[in-house]
Amino acid sequence: MSGIERYPTLFSPLDLGFTQIKNRSIMGSMHTGLEEAEGGFERLAAYFTERAKAGVGMIITGGISPNEEGGGSKLSTAEEADQHRIVTEAVHTAAPDVKICMQILHAGPLAATAKAVAPSAVKSRISPVTPNALDEDGIEQQLNDFANCAKRAKEAGYDGVEIIGSAGYLLSTFLVQKTNLRNDQWGGSYENRMRFPVEVVRRIREAVGNEFMVIFRIAAMDMLDGGMSWEEIVQLAKKIEAVGANIISTHFTWHESAVPTISTRVPRAAFSGVTGRLSKELNIPTITSNRINMPAVAEEVLRRGDADLISMARPMLADPEIIQKAIDGREDEINTCIACNQACLDHTFTGQEISCLVNPRACHETLLNYEKVSQPKRIAVVGAGPAGLSYATVAAERGHQVTLFDAADEIGGQFNLARRIPGKEEFDETIRYFNRMIEVHNIDLILETTVSAKMLVDGGFDEVVIATGIEPRTPEIEGIDHPNVVSYIDAIKGNKTIGKRVAIVGAGGIGFDVAELILHKGKSAALDLSVFAKEWGVDFENHPRGGVTGVSPQIEMNDREVCMVQRKSTPVGRGLGKTTGWTHRMSLARRNVKMVNGADYLKIDDEGLHILLNDQPQIVEADTVIICAGQTPQRALYDELEKTGLNTSLIGGAYEAAELDAKQAINQASFLAAAV
Ligand code: FAD
Ligand code: NAP
Ligand code: SF4
Repeated sequence: MSGIERYPTLFSPLDLGFTQIKNRSIMGSMHTGLEEAEGGFERLAAYFTERAKAGVGMIITGGISPNEEGGGSKLSTAEEADQHRIVTEAVHTAAPDVKICMQILHAGPLAATAKAVAPSAVKSRISPVTPNALDEDGIEQQLNDFANCAKRAKEAGYDGVEIIGSAGYLLSTFLVQKTNLRNDQWGGSYENRMRFPVEVVRRIREAVGNEFMVIFRIAAMDMLDGGMSWEEIVQLAKKIEAVGANIISTHFTWHESAVPTISTRVPRAAFSGVTGRLSKELNIPTITSNRINMPAVAEEVLRRGDADLISMARPMLADPEIIQKAIDGREDEINTCIACNQACLDHTFTGQEISCLVNPRACHETLLNYEKVSQPKRIAVVGAGPAGLSYATVAAERGHQVTLFDAADEIGGQFNLARRIPGKEEFDETIRYFNRMIEVHNIDLILETTVSAKMLVDGGFDEVVIATGIEPRTPEIEGIDHPNVVSYIDAIKGNKTIGKRVAIVGAGGIGFDVAELILHKGKSAALDLSVFAKEWGVDFENHPRGGVTGVSPQIEMNDREVCMVQRKSTPVGRGLGKTTGWTHRMSLARRNVKMVNGADYLKIDDEGLHILLNDQPQIVEADTVIICAGQTPQRALYDELEKTGLNTSLIGGAYEAAELDAKQAINQASFLAAAV
């Protein structure tokens, strides 16, 4: 069965009267960091064109501000429109049937500028600046700037604009009482608080005429304590429809809210049901989004009638060909977004250009290319973890003859441990993808073979790549060989019994994952919406204000006392991902995990873990002490090979173990394999 037959709803067109979207897939808006970079528009053109050529129905660009107050890259002048034309012309030339809309994002109080404006001078918890309260003239100016920006977008060749009315950005701060303290016509009653966003849409429609898409992104569940009620959301959506929007796109958070909405611990398509409720209230099409990362999920959501269009943002980074592969019936070749945020949102929120952990070419389409080779080499890759798999795949795709070895009986390396952690089930997809790539590119896979230097020397290879990963560090603590001490590998694999009282030595990413695993009970929240809802205190059915007001999280957990210890004096968990670290910290705090920083290790014995804290000896009483104290590179094989004169490279954890993660391992391997 072809992909088009399998996903008939996804691949049906949407008729808006004056224009058609050829199928129901949208590449959602993402800020890339290229908007501000030197030569960024040319790079953006290559990035979007690659996706446009691969079947997506419509693209929505990253957010562009209507003025300086809105923060980030702006579009208000003819010269700026010329820059945008580089993108629109490239996309329309490469794929004339694909639509591209520009998102207008006025960050309001979240704009990192002293010029930031808002309905009232209310500082956001997550912003360093207090915004300037707008006066009547200021409001008029902002409205004109929105209309002007949309007009410029039309001039620049876009097919429409999306206005973001959620996330804690300007428009949404008018809607909510805690950020709108005004008592003039722009504040007070809900009718007044709605006035600004509604007026933005009305003026934009007036400025661009009827044959130009106007999409409004609404916070359909803002996850704020005291946020918008369901009735207010419906009222706003209806007003927005009445003043001329063509499509309502649903969004599910303010950046400051305390519920994860897109990370890997969120179930797939978790929020589509909310869009479904809103769709029933409207006469115009709706877009849903969040954790829809495979075509089958998109089709199911559409078939349920939850939305008319599916926005996939990060999945388009992970695999620019996701839609084409669905069309061709090659879903098993899709490089699935695992919702880690490590190379996309974590980069955005730390001011770096974005990319993708599983696809380092994302946003680097002009810089990293996998060109076919004229003289294939025989290459041996030792280690089928993320580094070795990436190297092998890229080298083989380019035409090299690759043999990939692993001592284990399956590929994946440490990802086989990661995928066992509740909330990290998506890591399975990466292993599935690489298994398929091994078949597609005819990589000779040899498992259950511990490779020696002699085998490689005798093998007649032109190049050898060592990707043998890491060894868990064994810290020098008295009593480290006590029977109660367990390595994180044994703890994760369930090879050793874990007692009721547990001390964890080391509080990095793996320490957090291990704590999550040993406290876990029941179904994984990432796989079951009702468990997720209970755990994070969301009421999807009754939809109280924000979806969360008055709803207490209910945690089901194993009966264990866990204490995590680190030597650093910084708060435990500070080094975790910028956009996901708080979810790990909150999850363990709700499971009463004790966190100790600034400790020195004294010894381990029958009583547990003895530490020195503030110069005072203390005991973390424990039946089991799990060691999560980082890793050291496993490079004995490389050291041996170096002496033989064989062309050898070292990548991944074997190259650098400290602070190494899969993002760096895959990135390093891909760049190296692109050059061999
Ligand atoms: P590895 O994955 O360690 O693979 C090395 C491979 O080499 C192994 O399969 C091994 O069997 C093989 N090998 C070794 N010696 C030989 C030999 N002589 N012959 C044949 N084969 C050999 N990273 C992230 O970025 N994000 C996360 O969320 C994340 N979560 C994690 C959770 C857990 C529980 C763990 C354990 C790790 C996590 N990581 C995460 C870290 C990530 O998995 C590693 O950074 C990554 O796997 C390193 O890749 P690698 O290919 O260098 O090494
Ligand atoms: P890590 O994040 O570097 O943490 C290592 C921990 O061990 C730290 O808490 C460190 O704290 C402690 N440690 C280091 N040397 C020690 C020693 N000699 N004795 C005692 N304690 C010591 O490494 P990891 O947790 O092993 O994770 C490995 C990699 O996988 C990391 O790059 C991590 O980012 C990645 N990962 C990421 C995630 C994620 O969610 N993004 C999840 C899992 C893993 P002190 O030095 O302060 O004691
Ligand atoms: Fe998805 Fe992670 Fe890639 Fe971001 S970095 S697109 S979350 S796989």
